[in-house]
Amino acid sequence: MKSNVTTRSNERRYRDHAAFSRAIFGERVQKLSIDGGFSCPNRDGTIGTGGCSFCNNHAFVPEYCRRESGITRQIEEGIRFFERKYSGQKYLAYFQAYSGTHAPLEVLRERYEEALAHPRVIGIVIATRPDTVTCETLDYLGTLARERYVCIEFGVESTRDDVLARINRGHGVAEAEIACRESARRGIFTGAHLILGLPGESRREMVEGAVQVSRWPVHLLKLHQLQVVEGTRMAEEYRARPGDFPLHALDEYLDLVVDIVEHIRPDLYLERFVNQTPAELLIAPRWGVKNFEFAMMLERRLKERGTWQGKYYEDK
Ligand code: SF4
Repeated sequence: MKSNVTTRSNERRYRDHAAFSRAIFGERVQKLSIDGGFSCPNRDGTIGTGGCSFCNNHAFVPEYCRRESGITRQIEEGIRFFERKYSGQKYLAYFQAYSGTHAPLEVLRERYEEALAHPRVIGIVIATRPDTVTCETLDYLGTLARERYVCIEFGVESTRDDVLARINRGHGVAEAEIACRESARRGIFTGAHLILGLPGESRREMVEGAVQVSRWPVHLLKLHQLQVVEGTRMAEEYRARPGDFPLHALDEYLDLVVDIVEHIRPDLYLERFVNQTPAELLIAPRWGVKNFEFAMMLERRLKERGTWQGKYYEDK
């Protein structure tokens, strides 16, 4: 499948994920989180052992997503869950848990192809780290992408190496850029993920970082607010030194996202803006806002400020 995205959404002041779905598939498709049974190289010793300081995987993997069930069964359970709301829709199998490329190629191939063999699944989305994808894996996924929808979402998180070191990320910005370029070059839909509000990063640096990433050949950008979650090293740091964490109030975050939207590449698609950690795990900030609610607030704020995606983007 070609990754030549040209269709524009006329309905919003920014390119949202619904517009991306319509451009690529001609209809709404649902991402279905599955746990592919991979581990994380920043936890199992391949890269590190402590994990990223913000991460508690239980905070972002849905309940129906259990690795012991196997891939096909997780897909079936996920479809049952979503069919109550949208019956008959198509699905993308989303390898969301831990690092979705952290296994030998033959294992990856078997798991991705099991997902793609399901009649309701029209493609795969793989969340992973930029330093956990080999050329061999990218070559395989590039070949697969000629026939099926294949997307890799790279956790970039920040464009400052000192900030990445502080959160024990285990990779730098250079690896992130190379991974995005190598993925896109092979015709794979490529996404980048950034966290806004990491300790040590100023508001201006967050905007500049998003602009920098938007200059890479990525198709999709995901943003989310830093959340301090129970069971993480960051939770301990936050309790010890809350002043180190520039956690945003919702209204401030909204303005920050507007600043980013008006400075980034105009043809990039924005997939999401907020994360929703389960209330029992979330320490701060506690906004209680769902992504679709934030998207409506964003549209209103863009209108109020008389601005739109890419208004100030400079193509260098
Ligand atoms: S965010 Fe990803 S790379 Fe970091 S510890 Fe969690 S699963 Fe591992």
